[in-house]
Amino acid sequence: MKNHYKIKWSNEKCTDAFNCAKCLEVCPEAVFAIYAPNREEGVAPEEYVISPAMQYFCNGCGACLAVCPNDALKIIPKS
Ligand code: SF4
Ligand code: SF4
Repeated sequence: MKNHYKIKWSNEKCTDAFNCAKCLEVCPEAVFAIYAPNREEGVAPEEYVISPAMQYFCNGCGACLAVCPNDALKIIPKS
């Protein structure tokens, strides 16, 4: 299956990914992953971010955009 969409995520608008994660919950293609950008061995992370890590599988349904409370996601059609 050819992927026709690119998901753009805004770090500035998505400020509390760990407690929101609505995009991750609704995505039918499991595109999103949540992770800690600053890891330190033996220390619980203070910050988590969400990333459209598997955007190759995006089907362009728009479900993530519809639930995002911060308008932090955009779908960009590929040419
Ligand atoms: S548009 Fe649909 S398939 Fe693509 S990332 Fe958003 S919810 Fe997932
Ligand atoms: S739904 Fe929006 S605000 Fe919530 S984690 Fe996803 S991108 Fe961030």
